[in-house]
Amino acid sequence: MPDSRTPPEVDRVAASRRAVAARRERASLKRDVAMRVITPQDLLRRALGDPSSPAGAMRVTEFLTAIPAIGEGKRDRILAGLGISPVKRLGGLGARQRVALQGFLDERWPEPAPRADRSRLLVLAGPTAVGKGTVAERIKAHHPEILLSVSATTRPPRPGEADGEHYFFVDDAEFDRLVATGALLEHATVHNAYRYGTPRQPIEAALAEGRTVLLEIDLQGARQVRAAAPSAALVFLLPPSWDELVNRLVGRGTEGDEERARRLRTARVELAAQGEFDYRVVNDDVARAAAEVAALAP
Ligand code: 5GP
Repeated sequence: MPDSRTPPEVDRVAASRRAVAARRERASLKRDVAMRVITPQDLLRRALGDPSSPAGAMRVTEFLTAIPAIGEGKRDRILAGLGISPVKRLGGLGARQRVALQGFLDERWPEPAPRADRSRLLVLAGPTAVGKGTVAERIKAHHPEILLSVSATTRPPRPGEADGEHYFFVDDAEFDRLVATGALLEHATVHNAYRYGTPRQPIEAALAEGRTVLLEIDLQGARQVRAAAPSAALVFLLPPSWDELVNRLVGRGTEGDEERARRLRTARVELAAQGEFDYRVVNDDVARAAAEVAALAP
């Protein structure tokens, strides 16, 4: 006679498979927080929204140590201060504990709050390989009312790229002249290679007509626009997860280990800059992300 208290073998196998999958999902979420693909508040919201989800099943201890700058000692002091037992899971927090944890996170890692006085100048930036170019092209194709700025660059054209359409292809002397005459709103050397810059005049003309203008530029450029035009709306494009960004970065398998590691380090540094931005948009689907960015114009 089988013992009725022990589950049949098939159930046990299925349960252990589910447990492995859940652990893997929790590990992936912790990487997202560690790499700043999502904020700690994002993860807490998911956990509270669905306590039976992988986020909800995460222990508060795991959650806190996934946050950059929190080690085990600090974690234990934080939990004691908030009156939360270390064995608690995020989905099982009581109402007072939720408020306490949320308040602690908001104070330490404030989430950007969009300002009301935004201009129609949208700047789209984000980490390498997140798909900024594809999202910008999609907006160009579906939102003719939005002007996609055409940058000047010293990089040679790639097959299929047309001068004046994808870029203004210029030599170093011409680029120097553009900088010297103040013709560029911002400019930067990207990937330690070529120079890129945003022509000022077409943007000013379009904004004066009440049109929305979209710049798809790198992080250094976005920071310069913020300084030159503080009311510009800065949009940070995020990958759906850190694991997905790694796939997009290294998926092609054409780079050596060193180049791969360099790109991942760069992406990590770039992700850490998202707090400087007004909006965060997740590029989980190009059409959806493009629609979300286009809708940000006032
Ligand atoms: P690509 O050479 O692949 O077209 O572009 C390389 C990088 O240069 C991308 O990250 C793109 O966002 C950035 N970029 C393109 N135009 C500009 C620009 O005018 N200014 C700045 N700062 N970056 C740009």
